[in-house]
Amino acid sequence: MASYDVLIIGGGGAGLTAAIYTSRANLKTLVLEKLTPGGQIALTDAVENYPGFPEGVTGTEISMRMEQQAKRYGTEVQYEEVTSIAKSNSEFQVKTRGASHQARSVIIASGASFRTLEVPGERELTGRGVSYCATCDGAFFKNKEIVVVGGGDSAMQEGLFLTRFVTKLNVVHRRDKLRASPILQDRARENPKFSFVWDTAVMRIEGDKKVEKVRLKNLKTNAEKDFKTDGVFVFIGHDPATKFLDGFIELDEKGYVKTDDRLGTSQPGVFAAGEVRAGAVKQLVSACGEGCEAALNAQAYLEELEVAGKK
Ligand code: NAP
Repeated sequence: MASYDVLIIGGGGAGLTAAIYTSRANLKTLVLEKLTPGGQIALTDAVENYPGFPEGVTGTEISMRMEQQAKRYGTEVQYEEVTSIAKSNSEFQVKTRGASHQARSVIIASGASFRTLEVPGERELTGRGVSYCATCDGAFFKNKEIVVVGGGDSAMQEGLFLTRFVTKLNVVHRRDKLRASPILQDRARENPKFSFVWDTAVMRIEGDKKVEKVRLKNLKTNAEKDFKTDGVFVFIGHDPATKFLDGFIELDEKGYVKTDDRLGTSQPGVFAAGEVRAGAVKQLVSACGEGCEAALNAQAYLEELEVAGKK
C-alpha cells in the first residue's frame, strides 16, 4: 500500500490549492474526491468574485484548471468517496468504498453537501423536476415555469442562470427578506422573469411522472394553496460533509470541523480547510487561502516529525 506524505480529502478549491502547495514542496500528495474536480464550484455557472477574472470565469473552467495545476506538480487525484479515517501507529489510514490509503498527514477539505427540503415528494421526484444543480439540469427547463426555494446567494445566482432557459421563475422564501448579497438581490429584482413568494414554505411536491405542482403554506397566515410548476430547484444551504469522521476529531454542534489558529484539528497531523471548517466564510477565494495555509502547516508538521525522528 502506497504511503503518502499528505492525503487531502476533497478536491474543491481548498483541497486542490492545498495539493498545489504540498506537491510543489515535493510532498507525495493524494487527493480523494467523491464526485468531480472543483466540488461545489464545478456546479456553479459563473464565479464573479475570484480575483484575477474581471469578466468572471465558469465554475467548470476554474475547477479543471486547478486540478491540472495540482497534477502538473505531481499530485495524484483519485475519484473515491472516503468512508472512514483512523490512526494506526504513526500513520493515518483513510478508507474509501473500495480501497485503503495511508498517509503521514491529512487535510480535510470535504466541503459541504446541499441541504434538502425533507418534504413529501422531494425524493421521489428528484431527477424528474426536482433539482439541486442549475448548471446540470437548467437546459431541461427550456420555456418552463419553475420554483426556486431559498433566499441566499445560491438561490439568486443559480436563479439568474436559470432565467436563460425558463419563462418564469418563482422564488419561494420562508421570510420577507432575502439573505443574498445586495448585488445579487438587485439583479434578481430587476430581472423580469423573477417573481417572489414571501413568507412561504413548500409543504410537499406533487406529480405523477414529473413535478406538476407544489403545496405552499404562508407562514404568517397559515393559508395553504396549490401552485402549478414544472420544476423545483432547491438552494437552501449546505451541511458539512463530515459523516466519515465519526468521532475521529472534534466537530462543533453543527458538525463542522473545529480548528486552531494553524487550521489544526484535535488530532495532531490532521488539518482542515474550506467550507467544512467551523468559522469558514464559505467563499472560493477564502477556501483557496485556507487550503494554502493548511498545506504549509502540514508541511511544517512533517518537518517537525522528521526532526523529532532523528533525535
Ligand atoms: P445560505 O446563505 O445559508 O442561504 C440559505 C437560504 O435558504 C436562506 O435564505 C435560508 O433562509 C433558506 N433556508 C435554509 N433552510 C431552509 C429550509 N429548510 N427551508 C426553506 N428555506 C431554507 O446558503 P447558500 O445560498 O447556499 O450560500 C452558502 C454560502 O455560500 C454563503 O456564505 C454564500 O454567501 C456563499 N455563496 C456565495 C456566492 C457568491 O459570492 N456569488 C454564491 C453562492 C454561495 P433564511 O434566510 O430565512 O435563513
